[in-house]
Amino acid sequence: MEGLIFSVSGARGIVGKGLDPLVLTEIAAHFGAFVGPGTVVVGRDSRVSGEMAAAAVTAGLVGVGIDVVDLGLASTPTVEVAVREIGAAGGVQISASHNPADWNALKLLSSRGIFLTASEGAELRARIDAGRPRFHAWDALGNVRRRDDLNEIHLDRILASELVDSEAVRRLAPRVVVDCVAGVGGPIACRLLERLGAHATFVHAEPTGRFPRNPEPVPENLRELGDAVRAAKADIGFALDPDADRVAVVDETGRPIGEEVTLAVVIDSFLPVLGGDVVVNVSTTMAIDDVAARHGARVHRTPVGEVNVTERMLEIGAKIGGEGNGGVIVPAVNPGRDGLLGIALWLTALAREGAGTAALAARIPSTVMRKEKIEVGGLDVDLVLRELASAFPGYQVDRTDGLKLLSPDGWVHVRKSNTEPILRLLAEARTGDAVNELVVRAREVAVRAGAAS
Ligand code: MG
Repeated sequence: MEGLIFSVSGARGIVGKGLDPLVLTEIAAHFGAFVGPGTVVVGRDSRVSGEMAAAAVTAGLVGVGIDVVDLGLASTPTVEVAVREIGAAGGVQISASHNPADWNALKLLSSRGIFLTASEGAELRARIDAGRPRFHAWDALGNVRRRDDLNEIHLDRILASELVDSEAVRRLAPRVVVDCVAGVGGPIACRLLERLGAHATFVHAEPTGRFPRNPEPVPENLRELGDAVRAAKADIGFALDPDADRVAVVDETGRPIGEEVTLAVVIDSFLPVLGGDVVVNVSTTMAIDDVAARHGARVHRTPVGEVNVTERMLEIGAKIGGEGNGGVIVPAVNPGRDGLLGIALWLTALAREGAGTAALAARIPSTVMRKEKIEVGGLDVDLVLRELASAFPGYQVDRTDGLKLLSPDGWVHVRKSNTEPILRLLAEARTGDAVNELVVRAREVAVRAGAAS
């Protein structure tokens, strides 16, 4: 399976260059045999290749005797909710998330409605590497059933949460703009805002899969949303990624507050109600530590990857957490990242706290984060990490995931990407100059070590 990138929780690749119907059918069949017998939920985001991929995945599952519940276009959190609602043996979400339109991927869920864990992923990988799956005879095939009610059930779960105050939001009747980037989030976000009584306008709500911009909801991609927020005199703008598990916020002046702050505000507003500790990944903003300390809570940090956060949350009974890329997790609603829940929580915070979007964001201690990529081509990653550790004397060393070097005023984190052939370099500090200094120093070391390897 050349050209495919396997990670713990699935496989991704470029359509026609590694990711094709034959490969998808084989992976799906192995997955079905692994989680089955029983039912598997299949959903897809709006990518143009989604229909092909869903047909191939369905064929593979049915071929090994799995009954498929087909959701058609569905957000990733909706598929997660559906797996638990139906009592399915697993789920397959067809989405390459924030990656460009030529990519697609399988996100694989266990019967818990969360991504496969590292050991489950390794077991599936061994089956895939062992060769062709064993397909069943005509009288032992699975069947396919279509369900169209899961969006509403997902929204029922969100609105039934004690955290979401629909009445308060309805009284506030906020003006909201949502940028769905032609991903799958448009229709369900529209229904959510209807049910919450918000006055909503949309940018790129049609789920055509022809992304009008880079689909990652990071500040540099949210200019159009900012303009729309100002034009509509809206209270807040939301940007969903193509499969709607991540959400980023733009304030009433049209300024993106950043995905990291988007999560920090949710934690700041709801931690006092929920109590308990907070779980985030090692790359998430240090503002979370400040926020947690404010409410007397501890922060647990896991390796990057949603399932790592989810598993730790379930293990210690944490009630709120997530990933700094705009992924809010409240296990009582959904143990996976949920952009729709993020929207409902933000609107509740606005309604309850009587403060505007910018004012809520201003409560979060200000930091500057930089996220960079280093091409791996021929690089000795271990050598780079060793050299880095010695280039930052006096820094605390954290090897939870790659290498993180911390001081009281900032940190640098370098790790291999789970999804692309690159090293991710992240740094955060209290000022722009300080963070630039960290990045330049780390990059120099990496380039030098790269030249030597
Ligand atoms: Mg996503």
